[in-house]
Amino acid sequence: MNLLPMDVPGRLPRLRQSMEEHGCDALLVTSLTNLRYLTGFTGSAGMLLVLADGSLLLTDGRYDTQAAEQVQVAGVEAAIEVGNGPRQDEVLVAAVSAVSRLGLEACHTSWARQRTLADKVPSATELVPTEGLVETQRIVKDEGELDRMAKAAAIADQALVEVRPRLLDRPTEREFALELDSAIRRLGADDVSFDTIVAAGSNGAKPHARPTDRRIEPGELLVLDFGALLDGYHSDMTRTVCVGPPGTRTRSRMVEAVMAAQAAGVAAVRGGAAARDVDAACREIITQAGWGDAFVHGTGHGVGLDIHEQPMLSAVATATLAAGSVVTVEPGVYLRGEGGVRIEDSLVVTDDGCRHLTKSPKDLVID
Ligand code: ZN
Ligand code: ZN
Repeated sequence: MNLLPMDVPGRLPRLRQSMEEHGCDALLVTSLTNLRYLTGFTGSAGMLLVLADGSLLLTDGRYDTQAAEQVQVAGVEAAIEVGNGPRQDEVLVAAVSAVSRLGLEACHTSWARQRTLADKVPSATELVPTEGLVETQRIVKDEGELDRMAKAAAIADQALVEVRPRLLDRPTEREFALELDSAIRRLGADDVSFDTIVAAGSNGAKPHARPTDRRIEPGELLVLDFGALLDGYHSDMTRTVCVGPPGTRTRSRMVEAVMAAQAAGVAAVRGGAAARDVDAACREIITQAGWGDAFVHGTGHGVGLDIHEQPMLSAVATATLAAGSVVTVEPGVYLRGEGGVRIEDSLVVTDDGCRHLTKSPKDLVID
């Protein structure tokens, strides 16, 4: 698949600016997702020491060739040190000998690791907890990232088109999830984005149900939440469908309320909008319909190299949406006797609104 280039080399210089603002003359990046973002390296173990005038990628022997290749392909300049754990620490400690304030990623560093480092680094080097330096930078995507996310979303859309008719054969949740996952892989994704949710009837009342051997029956609400992973980037969408007409009037009303809420949420998305206002736009409509208590989660989240990343869109969110970020809008209603309804689109925030990455129609009835 042809993908637009990403500006990986531009990321370390921007990070250095924010390190300076946070009073760190070096940062030890231990989140593998952040490591990938900054260098292109996708191994399962490694860390990156970012210094004011260079960077050092430390990993083990399994990734000797891969690390060198990926860093080169990304166009990033980084020294690479390959060795076992103690050897990596030795090199790391030597490299920070002149560093006075070494930032650690507080959310990705265990207490044990912090204690080990505190023992090893020179006494003149202060360890500084930092939060979200790279994650904040990851919120606004470049053209290459948006290209990957658009293609991942298109794969998920197409997978649903292909497998939807299979629902008429009364598959089990598990069988249908497998079909959806296979279609996603067949259409070119590297993997599914997360464990596919196929939740029929009473299972749908649990927002994150796992597929079971239960058959999907006509008249039941069926929640399908899934996505494709492409070159590290995730897509995320949810549709609620029903084989034949919904079995009760309440189910139809639930769908109408969530559809209206989702449309209101999408209409509230724009660069400069408060994330909590998007949540409020959705929540107000569901509350008016009488189901405020049954909308048990936030309205949405950022998507990118992680399936859930900043910014969060909820009643307690403090973020302001930035143009060029990707967020989901996914209100839901969950009623024990009736099942669940959730509708989710992934959107690119623009200055005056948003652009849909998820393009699947929202028709409810399959017949
Ligand atoms: Zn989802
Ligand atoms: Zn989501």
